[in-house]
Amino acid sequence: MGQGLRLCNTKGAAVSDTFHEQSVKSSRKTRRCDWCGELIQIGQPYESYRWRDGSDGGTVVMHPECRQAMERTSREEGGWIDWDRGENVRGKSWGEMDVAEKTGGWRQ
Ligand SMILES: [Zn+2]
Repeated sequence: MGQGLRLCNTKGAAVSDTFHEQSVKSSRKTRRCDWCGELIQIGQPYESYRWRDGSDGGTVVMHPECRQAMERTSREEGGWIDWDRGENVRGKSWGEMDVAEKTGGWRQ
């Protein structure tokens, strides 16, 4: 599995620091959504943030609906969630996914 990516919004406390959050209305290049693994095409909106956890860190890029799905998942799970790139379904929280939809890796 890849690196765990985490976000908590239920208490406002963070195990990993997140910063440089931004909403971009129109992507200037093709990106891949970290939540669902699908492409974010040029001209489409996306949301991103940077995170740091000890010596680890990186940038997370997501479709706006995937960002919302991640926040719903955080509420469903009662706090911190630990997930890997591309293992989720676009726009769906864990509670909304069918088991068969959980792919466990990048999808093409
Ligand atoms: Zn996505």
